[in-house]
Amino acid sequence: MTVTATREAGLERTEAFVHHGVRQYAKSRNFDFGPGNHANVSVLSPYIRHRLILEQEVIAQTLASHSAGHVAKFLEEVFWRAYFKGWLQHRPAVWADYRRSVDALVAALEAGNELLDRYNAAVGGNTGIDCFDAWSRELVETGYLHNHARMWFASIWVFTLKLPWQLGADFFLRHLVDGDPASNTLSWRWVSGLHTKGKTYLARVSNIVNYTDGRFNPQGLSMTAEPLTEDVEYEPQALEFRDEPLPTERCGLLITEDDCYAESLAAQLRPSAVTGGLAIRNRSSLPVGIEAFNFSSSAIRDAVDRAGRLFNVETGYFEADDWSENLAEWATQHHVNAIVTAMPPVGPVADALAVASHTLSRYGIRIIQLSRRYDRETWPHAQRGYFKLKKQIPAIIDRLELDELDPVMPQRVVASDETRLSSGG
Ligand SMILES: Cc1cc2nc3c(=O)[nH]c(=O)nc-3n(C[C@H](O)[C@H](O)[C@H](O)COP(=O)(O)OP(=O)(O)OC[C@H]3O[C@@H](n4cnc5c(N)ncnc54)[C@H](O)[C@@H]3O)c2cc1C
Repeated sequence: MTVTATREAGLERTEAFVHHGVRQYAKSRNFDFGPGNHANVSVLSPYIRHRLILEQEVIAQTLASHSAGHVAKFLEEVFWRAYFKGWLQHRPAVWADYRRSVDALVAALEAGNELLDRYNAAVGGNTGIDCFDAWSRELVETGYLHNHARMWFASIWVFTLKLPWQLGADFFLRHLVDGDPASNTLSWRWVSGLHTKGKTYLARVSNIVNYTDGRFNPQGLSMTAEPLTEDVEYEPQALEFRDEPLPTERCGLLITEDDCYAESLAAQLRPSAVTGGLAIRNRSSLPVGIEAFNFSSSAIRDAVDRAGRLFNVETGYFEADDWSENLAEWATQHHVNAIVTAMPPVGPVADALAVASHTLSRYGIRIIQLSRRYDRETWPHAQRGYFKLKKQIPAIIDRLELDELDPVMPQRVVASDETRLSSGG
């Protein structure tokens, strides 16, 4: 499977899927035909996850060629991502607790006990369960798994192999080219019975035989899936979309792996420099897979190059656990006191920015985060179950005015333009 990490490749894939795949999607989407045979689904997730292409664009292109009724299933799946992003945004503690659990479990693995042997067998594809071992290898080698394979894999991991769900989520997050803190963590919790409390997903042999087109016939799968439990209750907290005005002074544009189409957000700005920051290694205390690393780093480079050409400014790129020093040096070099970036959702980029903001404020440098209209429209409906957001899909699509390209915070853009004009900039 080749997934080229550029916006151009994402747009091409969208167009091809809209014209040749989406009409059959509802009927064929559940089949996993194996590595290199995923044409029955869009494989747009790496592009959407990095915002090389926007959900809004995918929806607009789909509806430009098909009536909503014919592509409803596909659109619903696209909105699942917004649901998970919004749900986690309401409960950042789920991410923080997950990361802490992974660190503790990795320490337990390093202590080398029987958990280590079972874990190594699972991630090395040596459990003896044919489908599971094949998916383990497919994940590491290609960075992608079909949705149904992800569900079966997670279920077998938790209920047959009795491994901690957090280590499975970590294995996915480190290797998936679409590895996403919200979709991944919450899907693992969903399979385990922690997201919809008490409701689990059981991988059944007949279902696997049928939907893998007879490629597998796994033996020894658990026949039951007792929901996992936890002591903590995660209540939703208020969403925070920072509403800072755009800078009127010299500013720099920071591009991250959470938004690789920043020029659409900052088109009204005149940044003096553009840089890209990669936080992928903060996904885990274990190493990230080569496919995932290469995709994220190439996506950022593509985005930085595009923005550099658009604004005709110098570009840079860095990869670090702590962004403070890189950003401080870059800002000083370009004489900017304000760094504009797309608001990162809960995850490693937001974590890295939070640490950096604190340090940079001591040097008088502020980070200005711009949120996207799509997130502001969808996340408020993602407090509890998916159904509430699903009901809003037609109204959200109407409000998004799909012919306009993600008009972000127009009131702030106008304000900044006025300020720039009146100050002669
Ligand atoms: C255990 C588990 C872990 C997962 N981890 C991730 C992850 O890290 N990143 C990720 O993007 N998705 C994740 N998913 C969701 C889903 O499997 C992938 O989004 C989908 O398989 C991507 O392939 P596609 O682009 O061909 O999807 P398509 O079926 O073509 O769907 C189109 C788009 O809709 C969105 N989408 C579809 N299904 C889902 C879903 N169930 N949840 C959220 N968004 C969805 C994706 O952006 C996808 O690109 C996970 C699912 C499970 C069960």
